[in-house]
Amino acid sequence: MKAKLTVVLYGVTLLVLSACIQAPRTVKKEQHLDSKTANHEVHWSYSGETSPKHWAEIEKYSDCDGELQSPINIIHRSADSIKIGNKFEMFYTPNTFLSEVKNDGHSIKFAFESGDSIRYKNDIYYLKQIHFHEPAEHKINGLIYPIEMHLVHQSKSGRFTVLGILGEEGAESDLFEFFQSFLPLENGETKDIDEQIDLSYLQLDKKTYYTYKGSLTTPPCSESVHWVVFKEPFILSVEEVLTLKSNMPINNYRIEQPLNGRVVKYNF
Ligand SMILES: [Zn+2]
Repeated sequence: MKAKLTVVLYGVTLLVLSACIQAPRTVKKEQHLDSKTANHEVHWSYSGETSPKHWAEIEKYSDCDGELQSPINIIHRSADSIKIGNKFEMFYTPNTFLSEVKNDGHSIKFAFESGDSIRYKNDIYYLKQIHFHEPAEHKINGLIYPIEMHLVHQSKSGRFTVLGILGEEGAESDLFEFFQSFLPLENGETKDIDEQIDLSYLQLDKKTYYTYKGSLTTPPCSESVHWVVFKEPFILSVEEVLTLKSNMPINNYRIEQPLNGRVVKYNF
């Protein structure tokens, strides 16, 4: 099944835009469509009978029941500490264009035109999209942060590296003020932005982070995602957290998944 899914995933490279993507699900539906299932598709969600614990049954061709799933609880003292082990390089520029923002019913997603990229494990990954989960999906030492931002990067061959940044409540964040200037958005609504944004000032490559091999945290839960989760949270205000929360489904997070022998690396 994994081989088949990999083929599907590579086949839809251009459609795949995020860790919360819907495109592969749609393509999968077309490829497995028959008269019996055509009108009976159940859409995954974060609550009730289509909540994360049912994803594997709802999304039969997904990897949601795989062995290398995300998110995880990162235990710092169990992490393998490596000095500049999986170092990644950032090529974030001050004049990247933010093209649009969308509320797709799962999260608020900001889409980017080409500009920002990173080099990780000898491949270049392009920033495609930023979205949010509330509360956070990854935990550090069991601690649940109020919010998590995912910076989804994709290589030309369709592979993913996702940067996860946990948010902690404190002072206002200029970045979030900017993001929130485009809200609110109705479910299903998209707004064009076409404004420049400078994420280079975050200097993420100067921070310490954890790396591990995981998956998209939403169906199709595709594996072979490089995860980079920063140890230090960014600070945003309570009001900013609440604004994001009011624009997304309640509790749009997946619970922690078993490590299954995976080793998390701490890069400092
Ligand atoms: Zn995500």
